[in-house]
Amino acid sequence: MKVTIVGAGNVGATAADVIASRSIVSEVVLLDIKDGFAEGKALDIMQTSTTKGFNTRVVGVTSDYSKTNNSDVVVITSGVPRKPGMTREELVGINAKIVKDVTKNILNFSKNPVIVVVSNPMDTMTYLALKSSGLDKKRIIGMGGALDSSRFKTYISLALNKPANDIHAMVIGGHGDTTMIPLHRFAKYNGLPLSDFINKNEIDEVVKSTMIGGATLTKLLGTSAWYAPGSSIAYVVDTIVNDHKRIIPSSVYLDGDYGFSDVCIGVPCVLGKNGIEEIISLDLNNDEKLILSKSVHAVKSMNESLINHI
Ligand code: NAD
Repeated sequence: MKVTIVGAGNVGATAADVIASRSIVSEVVLLDIKDGFAEGKALDIMQTSTTKGFNTRVVGVTSDYSKTNNSDVVVITSGVPRKPGMTREELVGINAKIVKDVTKNILNFSKNPVIVVVSNPMDTMTYLALKSSGLDKKRIIGMGGALDSSRFKTYISLALNKPANDIHAMVIGGHGDTTMIPLHRFAKYNGLPLSDFINKNEIDEVVKSTMIGGATLTKLLGTSAWYAPGSSIAYVVDTIVNDHKRIIPSSVYLDGDYGFSDVCIGVPCVLGKNGIEEIISLDLNNDEKLILSKSVHAVKSMNESLINHI
């Protein structure tokens, strides 16, 4: 199995590191436009192989797409990250051109890869990658729900003072501070509802912390985070290449699902070797349906700014 990661910045290089360290695939190609940058990151990661004990080959290239040939999965992290005070939405113009060019270049050398889109604004970039690639809708997956759900689970575990790996919870909707929907009604600690452990105000606090989770880190770090995003990418890639069929909230093209069409937005999906194996229909209550519809509306209005790119 071969995975290409386009963009060897903080998020892309961290994803390559986690994928290699866990021996998820035999070869990772890391590509960047910055001269020598991906080569340097790849070599640095390779030089951890004996101390970490993995044999995955990590190859770095500067804009040479021929080295990405026959990739099974391609992850797009190329683009500009958010700066403090900048919304994901403000990134749209800059990153649309990059994502479209990258998608075209990738398809010159890999006929039918599963593409995982990470660049922000992620839901809109996923829609753009789908429309500009002509690939089957099941093969284009936006990664955001894996990360937001992981943040949600972390905040729940801190509030409950219980292990994060015993928490099951998911975030659906758009991958934005105001559009994501941490589904607290569905969250469980070892099968038991959150409301058995914390009160409504505490649940509201956890939801709020999750929604501003990315912005909190951007403020602290001066740029957007990379450990959890990189690790979430590796989790999604592992699920696809090893056909784990895990349910991971992902931004996918809705075609009547949840009552919406012609939009990519986060819903729970079974991921496996074909990409999106199944979209899971949750029994949302009226409040949740209303928030999801607002979220879809916000993503769709951002998609309108793609008019010159599709
Ligand atoms: P970064 O600046 O560290 O890395 C981006 C890299 O992309 C740079 O090395 C740059 O040279 C490269 N690049 C730019 N244009 C390119 C092109 N045309 N071809 C190849 N490479 C190109 O940024 P980062 O922190 O790694 O973030 C990358 C993207 O991921 C941003 O858009 C960020 O907002 C997004 N992000 C998304 C999530 C998510 O959950 N979906 C999480 C974190 C970050």
